[in-house]
Amino acid sequence: MNLSLDYAIEMDQKDPLKSYRDLFHIPKDKFGNDLIYFCGNSLGLQPKTTKSYIEQELKDWAELGVEGHIEAKNPWLPYHEFLTESMAKVVGAKPIEVVTMNTLTANLHFMMVSFYQPNKKRYKIVIESDAFPSDKYAVESQLRHHGYDDKEGLILWKPRKGEELLRYEDLEQIMQDQGNEIALIMIGGVNYYTGQYFDLKRITELGHKHGCKVGFDCAHGGGNVPLNLHNSGADFAIWCSYKYLNSGPGSLSGCFVHERYAYDKNLNRFTGWWSHNKETRFNMRHDFDVLPGAEGWQLSNPPILSLAAIRASLDIFNEAGMDALRDKSIKLTGYFEYLMNGLGDDVVRIITPSNPKERGCQLSIQVKNANKELHDKLTDSGVITDWREPDVIRCAPVPLYNTFQDVYLMVERLKGLL
Ligand SMILES: *Cc1c(COP(=O)(O)O)cnc(C)c1O
Repeated sequence: MNLSLDYAIEMDQKDPLKSYRDLFHIPKDKFGNDLIYFCGNSLGLQPKTTKSYIEQELKDWAELGVEGHIEAKNPWLPYHEFLTESMAKVVGAKPIEVVTMNTLTANLHFMMVSFYQPNKKRYKIVIESDAFPSDKYAVESQLRHHGYDDKEGLILWKPRKGEELLRYEDLEQIMQDQGNEIALIMIGGVNYYTGQYFDLKRITELGHKHGCKVGFDCAHGGGNVPLNLHNSGADFAIWCSYKYLNSGPGSLSGCFVHERYAYDKNLNRFTGWWSHNKETRFNMRHDFDVLPGAEGWQLSNPPILSLAAIRASLDIFNEAGMDALRDKSIKLTGYFEYLMNGLGDDVVRIITPSNPKERGCQLSIQVKNANKELHDKLTDSGVITDWREPDVIRCAPVPLYNTFQDVYLMVERLKGLL
């Protein structure tokens, strides 16, 4: 690696995934130049194919009306099934373990209906101290829903004084001290703030050893890191499709339930007609007969237009392959880290782990004495990142559509502002 623009140009030329950028709409500044878009961790860019996938469904709806459920080119009744295999590949799961449904926080609640079943002795929930607010609110409301105090029942896995990252020893200590009172460990697979990518398998094994259920919110993991959900052994996981999975604002969420529960009819769950046996779903007077696998957690017939957008995106992921994406991602973010460190550690500090195995593409950067003004100036200079209080700029160079030159230019512009 070196500090020259030529190096970035050469890396882009050698990039086996370089053609993928052209599959996306890249937002432009007012002069028509491509913005440097490092916000795929918040809202991924739109694939150019998304429009035609959605238009197909609009056309079939216009021409077929209700018949589209069966007669559409891609029949709507089984439409979610068209996504399952690709989605399962992206998160390292078996197809029976994965379904696309609802939105993320809604799925977190539905998963807790099944996997947070507290009793007087065992009712506490562990989360990261800096969990995404929605996760914290959801977990607190589950505690209250079951009649527990949302302060006393919530255990925070905290970083040590003066540190940002979480240490496994500290989670082990929590489990040793209170493991027999803990019902659920619910951790963000990749922390939204620091970008720390946790060892899902290690946390799961620890939790299971103490008799707890373990689930992960992989909002910042899906499409970013190889989650290997099946092998992690986690009981459940959820993730959204609008961040790294490029499926449009507010699009549906992915949900994973481990295979060991696929045929468990006794597990408590909330159900609807879409969790019922497909063969008899429309003979409306049957007793409830739950579908096997993650599909058995669906409630409603899903919004096809949103599924169509997800399908367009998953087709791109499938073609590129998570292995190749991860390969490039490690190089791209490594390059970004190298240039940032070149600015001097008295100027910027990266709080994201430096070990590539412990992070995805995002780097969370603290700039000495900076406030939101710096972030706003960066935006004005054509670099789209996001600001998290109190003092972090999150930047996510995404392997599908970002380039080494994006990274180079971003650092140059930041340097110009310092
Ligand atoms: C983005 C994100 C959410 C957002 O939840 P929605 O239900 O999709 O609005 C929740 N949790 C985490 C960890 C996130 O990163």
